[in-house]
Amino acid sequence: MKPIGPIPPAFAEQHGMLTIAGHSAEAWVAEHGSPVFVYDFGVVRGQVDRFRAAMPDGVRLHYAVKANPYVPLVRAIAALVDGLDVASAGELSDVLAYKPGGAISFAGPGKRDAELEAAVRVGVTLNVESEGEARRAIEIGTRLGIAPRLAVRVNPDIELRGSGMKMGGRASPFGVDAERVPALVREIVASGAEWRGFHIFAGSQALDSDALIETQAATLALATRLGEESGHAPPLVNLGGGFGIPHFAGDRPIEVERIGAALAKALDARNAVLADTTFAIELGRWLVGEAGVYLTRVVDRKESRGETFVVVDGGLHHQLAASGNFGTVVRRNYPIALAHRMGAAADDAVSVVGCLCTPLDRLADRVVLPRADVGDVIAIFIAGAYGLTASPSAFLGHPAPAEVLANAS
Ligand SMILES: *Cc1c(COP(=O)(O)O)cnc(C)c1O
Repeated sequence: MKPIGPIPPAFAEQHGMLTIAGHSAEAWVAEHGSPVFVYDFGVVRGQVDRFRAAMPDGVRLHYAVKANPYVPLVRAIAALVDGLDVASAGELSDVLAYKPGGAISFAGPGKRDAELEAAVRVGVTLNVESEGEARRAIEIGTRLGIAPRLAVRVNPDIELRGSGMKMGGRASPFGVDAERVPALVREIVASGAEWRGFHIFAGSQALDSDALIETQAATLALATRLGEESGHAPPLVNLGGGFGIPHFAGDRPIEVERIGAALAKALDARNAVLADTTFAIELGRWLVGEAGVYLTRVVDRKESRGETFVVVDGGLHHQLAASGNFGTVVRRNYPIALAHRMGAAADDAVSVVGCLCTPLDRLADRVVLPRADVGDVIAIFIAGAYGLTASPSAFLGHPAPAEVLANAS
């Protein structure tokens, strides 16, 4: 049998029927159907508060919309954070539609001219990913008679150690290689564009607090060097993020208080070229991942050659990451529970599989749960980030699940 990941603290201590934002899992499914994603905004609020308490004053918090673009969630989070980072014109028009306060920045390779134009028109900061993209944005600004707001995304020569996804220190489709950045900064400033600073994102889903501390220090050193070499102080430095959350057995949460204390020290000692710089940290997963629970009902229970399969009405078309097919090398089990028997003795060895006709659709591989029967509800945790919109929802043509934001006011 294989271990399952740790249930997030907001739900881990529960016994009996799983309660999410004051309602039972069964009640959520009865009201919205199965499968359903329930996002408990109280958990998000708790993470924002924890960030604010831990980080030095003045460090801005941005939300990376792609982690979970569900509009009611983004609208609620926009009221708590200082900025939103979007990665497409689609996300941009979503966030503009309800006019959040605060800064919006737009990163991502392959921005089309129409996307650049949409951003320039509304004064969104473009994190340019190449010299070519910077020049297209400048031309569009000239044509529109609007100075574009441009920051340079840097492909750093540093790497976030222990990160689930490495973004720095090698050839990359993201950002401009650090050694070419000073020349581009001078070109941007000379063009009359509004110079906004650096965006330096060194990796994602890191659980090693020391590695995050080292990366932040190295990022500050890199921003210092680039500011000095280009001759233009950066108004803003987006330090990236990369804060991870536990997903699998043995994972430990990061110590955000210790990271904040180290950042405070590093900022106090920063070089003169960064004296007037504003700093931001952009987070997706850490803010919203643990808030989401995916609930799915058991439709069949079957035996095959000595193994038991619990077949549910959900699957990887909604929650790809739990099947191990979203950027993981070794398949490991997400935290999962039988919703009406939280804390009960687990004595039933099963695999939980989704309803798609592919062997990839395995939501839990050889785990031990309390006995699950047809009609019961299974809860899969950590469904608040890179869930529905990071899954191939059109694959096999099943209906879309409901999403619900709870506890938002
Ligand atoms: C996706 C992304 C993020 C968010 O990453 P998380 O691991 O969800 O915190 C932040 N910055 C950039 C540039 C991204 O592309």
